[in-house]
Order: sequence, then C-alpha cells, then structure tokens
Amino acid sequence: MSIRTIRVEGDEILNKKSKPIKEMTARNKQLVSDMLETMYDAQGVGLAAVQVGILKRIVVIDVGEGPIILINPEIIETSGEQCGYEGCLSVPGKRGIVTRPNYVKVRAQNENMETYEVDGTELLARAFCHEIAHLEGELYTSRIEGPLEDVEYDDYEDEDFEDEDFEGEE
Ligand code: ZN
Repeated sequence: MSIRTIRVEGDEILNKKSKPIKEMTARNKQLVSDMLETMYDAQGVGLAAVQVGILKRIVVIDVGEGPIILINPEIIETSGEQCGYEGCLSVPGKRGIVTRPNYVKVRAQNENMETYEVDGTELLARAFCHEIAHLEGELYTSRIEGPLEDVEYDDYEDEDFEDEDFEGEE
C-alpha cells in the first residue's frame, strides 16, 4: 500500500471523464487499497480515482461507518433535498454551500466485480453525489450557491460537516 498524491483544482485531469472498469486486475486492486490509504491519511470521507490522477470509475467512501468501495457506480434513485457545506480534498481549505438529494441509492460493483446496491442519507448521500460527480469530471465548486469560502476551524462547530473526518481537510 502506498499513499498517492492528491491532485488539486487547476489540474486538468480533474475535469476529465473516467473510464469504466472491466475487470478487477491486480493493478486495480492495488489502486483501491492505495485510495483507501490516501483518503484516511488525508482525513477525507471520500475519494475518486481521478483525484489521484487515474481516470477509472472507482470511488472509496467512509463517513465513519466503514469503507464503501464503488466500482462503476451509478445513482439509481434519489429523493428529498439537503443544503449544506461541502468540501473536497482536491480543493483544500475551501468550502461552499451545495444542494444535494437527502437520500441516494447507488448501484455499483464491489472489489470482486459483484453488482450490489447501497444507499444512504445526509452525509453519505452527499458523499455519493460528490464522488460520482468526480467521475464525470465535475467538481462541487461548479454547483455552489454563494461564494467559495475559506475554511476556518472554528466554523465547523455549527456546520453539517462538523464530522471529525472533515475537519482534517484543512
Ligand atoms: Zn471531491
């Protein structure tokens, strides 16, 4: 396992569309394991392969309930609405308000390429939307309502993303 370099806004690769995974090769397995290590090291709650410079449709998420590995994920159902701050490991030290569905169901393959479905609300629903958008080359900054703000540590006390994993993004 190794920690990979996280690409930051301004790097053109972040605007490119990622390609589907056809089989779980040893190389892809290594990538998944490196992505998890990189995400935990950066104290993020999600990471898409493109963020470490690889245009493959792989996402890892952990909102504090254990790792979720999504290969070729697709959003198949959404409902409700939530409006709150969002941040991104590729846009360090910033945050902005984004409206997302409050419930999201995803169909994906796991690391054995078996299709499964996983759903979530609130922070997990937000993470599904945010990370899957990365696979289309989209950053949350294109969806913010209002300004892109500098993150100040104290602000976290009151916000949606007061989750301890998110504090580490600064
Ligand atoms: Zn992101």
